[in-house]
Amino acid sequence: MQNYKDFLDYVLIDEISLQKRIAELGAEINQDYTGQDLMLICILRGGITFMVDLMRHVTVPHVMDCMAISSYGVGARSSTGNVRVTYDLQNNIEGRNVLLVEDIVDSGHTISHVLQMLNTRNPKSLKVCALLDKEERREVIVPVHYRGFSIPNAYVFGYGLDIDEYYRNLPFIGVVDLEKYKPES
Ligand code: 5GP
Repeated sequence: MQNYKDFLDYVLIDEISLQKRIAELGAEINQDYTGQDLMLICILRGGITFMVDLMRHVTVPHVMDCMAISSYGVGARSSTGNVRVTYDLQNNIEGRNVLLVEDIVDSGHTISHVLQMLNTRNPKSLKVCALLDKEERREVIVPVHYRGFSIPNAYVFGYGLDIDEYYRNLPFIGVVDLEKYKPES
């Protein structure tokens, strides 16, 4: 894998801005769910870094669970709309307040599919918290109740988001210069 500095176009959101906004989101969630039972659900794998940092600001008593989703067409840089669950929740969500924690909403297909599926399990409430939102790319209308940042139409990586599975560990969100990025064959 190339050094990310060779294909980093620019840092879109630095570490300090990310952490400040995540603390604000946590405060909003605390206010909205005061006195209520809460279940946070991390959408793996991109949402994991965000989830871990967000959870530390959520002081309302809560449980957490994870699910993994994949789109058909491995290697594609956008969702195809054919979404399937590869790892399901371990908890029953019936009658519970569920908040989905997602790295990024792009076309909206992934979150739309997850919402439809989870709604059939009769949660008391079901909301979405997305760190990043590429609104101009939307193909299906989906609610984003808590939004970290609206971002432009660019391929981003870092802070849980990958470039061919690498660099999820970076503490900032960077934009990939696709002309400089050389995928391994
Ligand atoms: P959607 O179904 O909304 O089109 O896509 C959602 C999923 O596509 C995200 O959870 C993420 O895995 C992936 N995705 C969309 N845009 C980006 C991006 O700019 N960078 C990365 N690393 N993944 C993205």
